[in-house]
Amino acid sequence: MQVRIDRRMFLVGAAALAGAALWPWPATGQQRDSMKLILLGTGGGPRPRKTSSAPAQVILINDTAYVVDCGDGVARQLVFAGVPLPRLRHVFLTHHHSDHNADYGNLILLAWTAGLRTRVDAWGPPPLEKMTQQFFEMNAYDIATRTADEGRVPLAPLVHVHELSQGGPVMQDQNVKVSSALVNHPPVIPAFGYRFDASDRSIVISGDTTPSDNLIKLAQGADVLVHDALYVPGINRLVAGVPNATSLKQSIMSHHTSVEDAGRVAQAAGVKTLVLSHLVPAEDPAVTDQMWIDAARVHFRGTVIVGKDLLEI
Ligand SMILES: [Zn+2]
Repeated sequence: MQVRIDRRMFLVGAAALAGAALWPWPATGQQRDSMKLILLGTGGGPRPRKTSSAPAQVILINDTAYVVDCGDGVARQLVFAGVPLPRLRHVFLTHHHSDHNADYGNLILLAWTAGLRTRVDAWGPPPLEKMTQQFFEMNAYDIATRTADEGRVPLAPLVHVHELSQGGPVMQDQNVKVSSALVNHPPVIPAFGYRFDASDRSIVISGDTTPSDNLIKLAQGADVLVHDALYVPGINRLVAGVPNATSLKQSIMSHHTSVEDAGRVAQAAGVKTLVLSHLVPAEDPAVTDQMWIDAARVHFRGTVIVGKDLLEI
């Protein structure tokens, strides 16, 4: 099945907006509904856990759902959050690690089984087009059966994939404008953070990254920054007993941001609220919310929220 890549639309948009230091928003000055953020999954890492889902967020504006990252269980988490799946309109992937993309295809497929009949645009790094095509191939039997047997619209033509390889303007519609920055998450290249500017406030999702100057620029003056966070003393307990403890610890430490540095990034960006998410460790009772908050406040003087699944911000 063919998946259309609309690079031209992205390039035209990027060219039109290049050089604009500030985008006036909303362009019409109309009053619009407020932008809501719901954390769908706040634990870092792909291993399924009892107490927190894998990373995912949804931003809701005027009943339109913009999903950022698709960790395991994202469709069910949207149901728990009370978001009708047919409201899905855009999917943004920060990078291709399985805790962020394992349910990318499943989200679209399951939204379709729940009644989705309208266009979905998917944005993220290559090979997003190939992944989408292969997902549809893998599920071709079910899709064809339900299309014929249940009278559903064909799924593949609804999905429009846009591969992103550099930071900058991503898309804009009547609700929001979305921009991105390349962040540093070796060895995964590219990896993005995304910024959503609506009429009432601005929200930035860091994705996975080490402390990033590009992200500080992207998040300048934002109302909310959702940032990847490690509680470093908890890492030793996390890896204790696994055969590859040394390399696993080294990997975690070199690809992410300590909670203290997340506070430093938030302070440098001048954001109002820092939301700690992609928490590692995710379910260590010895690491309390107050410990996360105290560590973030070493460098950050705004509001700190420790991310919880289904928390609305
Ligand atoms: Zn990652």
